[in-house]
Amino acid sequence: MKSFAKFAAVAVMAAAALIPASSFAQDKATPQYKPVKYIILMIGDGMSLPQRMLADSYSNKLFGKGLTINELPFMGYTKTSSADSFITDSAASGTAIATGVKTNNHYIGVDPKKQRVESVAELAKKNGFAVGILSSITINHATPASFYAHNDNRDNYYAIGQDLVKSGFDYFGGGGVNNNRGGGFGGNNRDIYDLAKEAGYTVAHGKKEIEAIDLKKADKILAYGHGGQLPYAIDIDKKNDLTIADYTKQAIDFLYAKNKPFFMMVEGGMIDSHGHSNDAASSLFETMGLDEAVKVAYDFVRKHADESLLLITGDHETGGLTLGFANTGYSSYIELLGFQKGSRDVIRGRIDPIFREMKGEGVLNDALKQAVTDNFGLVFPDKRDAGLAALRDKVRQDNLKIDQGVLRQLVLSSSEVKSIEDAAKQKRGDKFVSVVYGIFNNKCGVGWTSGAHTALPVATSSVGVNADLFSGMYENTDISKHLKEIVKVSAAK
Ligand SMILES: [Zn+2]
Repeated sequence: MKSFAKFAAVAVMAAAALIPASSFAQDKATPQYKPVKYIILMIGDGMSLPQRMLADSYSNKLFGKGLTINELPFMGYTKTSSADSFITDSAASGTAIATGVKTNNHYIGVDPKKQRVESVAELAKKNGFAVGILSSITINHATPASFYAHNDNRDNYYAIGQDLVKSGFDYFGGGGVNNNRGGGFGGNNRDIYDLAKEAGYTVAHGKKEIEAIDLKKADKILAYGHGGQLPYAIDIDKKNDLTIADYTKQAIDFLYAKNKPFFMMVEGGMIDSHGHSNDAASSLFETMGLDEAVKVAYDFVRKHADESLLLITGDHETGGLTLGFANTGYSSYIELLGFQKGSRDVIRGRIDPIFREMKGEGVLNDALKQAVTDNFGLVFPDKRDAGLAALRDKVRQDNLKIDQGVLRQLVLSSSEVKSIEDAAKQKRGDKFVSVVYGIFNNKCGVGWTSGAHTALPVATSSVGVNADLFSGMYENTDISKHLKEIVKVSAAK
């Protein structure tokens, strides 16, 4: 204690002696807000630096180019804790980013005393901006809801859907309205989509209808691909489904054509889902999907460089993702994650029937082994030569930038086979898939510490007018505090 106090005193004196007082001016500089016309805020749900780095390094290895998100010139770290918890949920963090107020987990657009707080989107609308809210997950889910709804329970989807209609915002797009008839909360309520139509929204469902919207004629738009969320990026069939990048493009075209300033929030809503299920491959594809939307936004911002601000953040980290694992030491094999064939839901859909056919037996039979190989590229030791030859063929056929030698990493060790055998004995698809996921992720040099959120700060990147304000380390509420001031000076202009 004594020596620490002495050290601290010496350090302070040394610092005071070395640095002239004037250089501290920047510490307390009041931000000089400059007016902008177009503000695009993008949020990766569950996306912190590890998620960005995972997708970046995969993209670099396979395609020779990292993420666009990581090219933005300014970056800061954003702390995410909520009013009542060091580890936030998406409702409290969404509310913090949207309104500038820390609230309790599960609360949307209200403070800890359940008093309504205004979001930057509402403030922008009030000040003559057109407003767009987009998400790949359902549009009344916690993060998008924080920009237009006020409710002390994020699960009150029907009431949040009513707030969506009441907002009068110009564009809603991506996932559909969850619980649109309020079945779970009293039933027999009027369909949110009908309420939206009555309020003047052009409601379009599915790729064909959405692409057919006349953007010049529509007053307000509610465009959704599915009743629920969009397909995961790893599973999406681009012929039949729009991506979050497609929605972003449409929203920008629509809002820009209104000839007034706009504020847009785009959420990549399902990086979080893959963090919860510790699914690194799906996570990196989801992040790359959001990055496609970032590209669309960045292109727009480049064309309107003197009047735009693009800001990309996360609401919290999910899963305790880390790049590097005990058994792989200083090596990593992130490129091998590409051998995974689909999200956890899709893979469960292939594994569950095999268990059903076993009729309660629970052994690692040939069908299960084949499924493990087909869905993850993992090679059982008794099929080593044939398995590696098949992987080499695949690499050649698809022209993948993967070293032949690295493929050996996909051969299962005897202890890994034992774990998979034990998992089969549990006779349950979900348990089995979890064990295989763990082994596969770890073999690729990726680790997870949690099935929940963590308190890791997130990275916030920015470009454009006022972008420098988002450097340094600050609370998530500062994002909204700055954005609200920017909206005010922009409206006054
Ligand atoms: Zn979550």
